[in-house]
Amino acid sequence: MATTYDRAAQHDLVYRRSEHPTTERLEAVLGALEGGDAVVYPSGMAAVLAVLRHLRPRRIALPRDVYHGTRKLVGSEAATGALSVTAPADLESGDVWWVETPSNPRCEITDIAAVARAAAERGVVVVVDSTFATPVLQQPLVLGAGLVLHSTTKFISGHSDAMGGVLVSGDGATADALRYRRMEDGATPGSLDVWLTLRGVRTLPLRVERQSQSAAEIAAWLAPRVPVVWHPSLPDHPGHAIAARQMRDFGGVLSFEVEGGEKAQSIVNRLRLFRTATSLGGVESLAEWRRSVNPAAPEGLIRLSVGLEAPVDLIADLGQALG
Ligand code: PLP
Repeated sequence: MATTYDRAAQHDLVYRRSEHPTTERLEAVLGALEGGDAVVYPSGMAAVLAVLRHLRPRRIALPRDVYHGTRKLVGSEAATGALSVTAPADLESGDVWWVETPSNPRCEITDIAAVARAAAERGVVVVVDSTFATPVLQQPLVLGAGLVLHSTTKFISGHSDAMGGVLVSGDGATADALRYRRMEDGATPGSLDVWLTLRGVRTLPLRVERQSQSAAEIAAWLAPRVPVVWHPSLPDHPGHAIAARQMRDFGGVLSFEVEGGEKAQSIVNRLRLFRTATSLGGVESLAEWRRSVNPAAPEGLIRLSVGLEAPVDLIADLGQALG
């Protein structure tokens, strides 16, 4: 927890904002999982801002479905004149092609290797927000992405008690530059958050495997009962074939749509085992009427983050809430 170190001890540690052994351990673990050099931040959004400030693109392309906080931050940056938002076809050298796969909240799937190939021809940098997949299910750097981003607040820490973000680069010089800038900016994560994240990541594969299996069971149960279910495990999901190729499993988040906001709210209110809360990736199952935090979400959309409870109990809870 220390913010300063005994200089007489003759080690290389000077001050918490520039050196911190627990942070370095977490970065070593996350870098190994993604196959690159990791730099951690106090939140996912701090990582989004850090990569934009580092790359300074003139243009950025965002996916149709993307975490609304990312869209808002890019909008704020665009309002300062720093960059403009454009279609992928208009990107030029030095610009950024932002990918979020699976996307929040509709689990849309982007073919990372295809995007990486198209971007490489034009010198465009591909940044993949892989928060929903985690390094357990996909490795974007191997598929050709320039940088990977996670909100470690979600699956990686996994217990809804630590905030964090990470950028992983295949190139050590980029990671060094990010780390230097972080020391200047002061965007270093807190000691307790990195410690909790390091503890949480130890069970990451077990949690993600179970959460993915349960989410697929729930998606299959919901499919004949509600108008729309968004989970790439379903054979009629538009991204199913790509997800089956680029991911090891389909992930622990799904969304479904019912007829209108009132009905969606009343279903969420009737759920007992799923807690009504935002965020995702923790050991407890959460349900959220997405319109309550994102005005652009479809009116009847409910997002489920599937935890570690027995799927039979989760399905029974949904059964009584749907009526
Ligand atoms: N990216 C995705 C896909 C997210 O779902 C979130 C948060 O919900 C973020 C980034 C932002 O992360 P944080 O809340 O840790 O700042």
